[in-house]
Amino acid sequence: MNPPNITPGFPSRLPHVGTTVFTVMSALAAEHEAINLGQGFPDFPCDRQLIASVNEAMLADHNQYPSMLGVKELRSGIAHKIQQLYGHQYDPDSEITITAGATQGILTAILACVSPGDEVVIIEPAYDSYRPAIALAGGKAIAVSLQVVRDEQGQVASYEIPWEALANAIHSKTRLIIMNTPHNPTGMVWQRVDLDRLADLVQDTSALILSDEVYEHMVYDGASHHSVASHPLLAARSFLISSFGKTYHVTGWKIGYVAAPPALTKEFRKVHQFNVFTVNTPMQHGFASYLADASHYLNLPAFYQAKRDFFRASLANTGFKLLPSPGTYFQCVDYSALNIPQAKLNEAAFCKWLTTQIGVAAIPVSAFYHQATESGVLRFCFAKQEQTLSNALQRLQSL
Ligand code: PMP
Ligand code: GLN
Repeated sequence: MNPPNITPGFPSRLPHVGTTVFTVMSALAAEHEAINLGQGFPDFPCDRQLIASVNEAMLADHNQYPSMLGVKELRSGIAHKIQQLYGHQYDPDSEITITAGATQGILTAILACVSPGDEVVIIEPAYDSYRPAIALAGGKAIAVSLQVVRDEQGQVASYEIPWEALANAIHSKTRLIIMNTPHNPTGMVWQRVDLDRLADLVQDTSALILSDEVYEHMVYDGASHHSVASHPLLAARSFLISSFGKTYHVTGWKIGYVAAPPALTKEFRKVHQFNVFTVNTPMQHGFASYLADASHYLNLPAFYQAKRDFFRASLANTGFKLLPSPGTYFQCVDYSALNIPQAKLNEAAFCKWLTTQIGVAAIPVSAFYHQATESGVLRFCFAKQEQTLSNALQRLQSL
């Protein structure tokens, strides 16, 4: 007799989670053959030399499990780079772990330090993986919102760190605070004084910090990235997370790292070893030899700033209001003053219309908030070839 074809039901671990907005919008863009300025990824190739380094590693038979911590030469290279850029010396053996992208680093760090009932402070709009990761750990997300600054016409002009709300949210039950600079989706960049202020807020607490710095090399107009690694008081309680996907135009390789003091790294690795155990070997060797050349990331701000400026100049005389974009490869715009009936649509509906009818995909900023927050703002990714941007901008200029 055949067994009955019934799959047992079980309570969802993430009952309120659907498919990530980036996947949804990319699928919609593909279906309608729209230009995809939604999900953040470059449409141009990475350096052939990087590919050659990975090929060499494969041909040299670096194809078995690497060290659980990550390939030693790569960890040393990362420690050297952080020391040069931010002045903090991490020990490659006890403080740096290679991860399968930033997403795995974030989830693993959260699982390693958040226990059921612990509070985790996040700042919304927030990258969409934070909340589900906190939920899987049994933690409680405490969200504060960036302050939205509006101009005289009521349109969004900029975002500011909500210090008062943060001060109220952080207390003895706070296990972790998640910060993200440069910030996805707003491009906001933390200043040194902001790090000082955060250090003041946490100094009498046992709160840890997770600093998501995947866009560390995309800060414009001559400004600097201020890493938690540059701030000894914060570095002593922080997981610093970055991703090679962003910096080296290889988002599909899924490789990044987490740097943290030994006590945090020890707990991180307990989870990491049963989460992915190790990260693919040839890519690690490839980056280990490629990383020494600093010219790639030192040139990145000029490379992306040119794209940002082209994008902004092309939208300057349209009904889109450009928000500041001091960092990341995203440009947010307020569409609420466009002289078309669709300007009244909510962000998700506007993005859907833009994708399906105008042929340009974007991400609604409301998707980065837990509770529907409508401000008439959407996010474009300008990490694209000039031709892609020109084609998209032509369509946007027609609105
Ligand atoms: N954090 C932020 C703020 C991001 O925008 C992204 C996205 N790409 C990630 C983390 C995840 O990076 P990765 O692709 O390396 O997992
Ligand atoms: N981080 C990218 C973005 O913000 C997308 C990553 C993803 O698709 N999960 O667009």
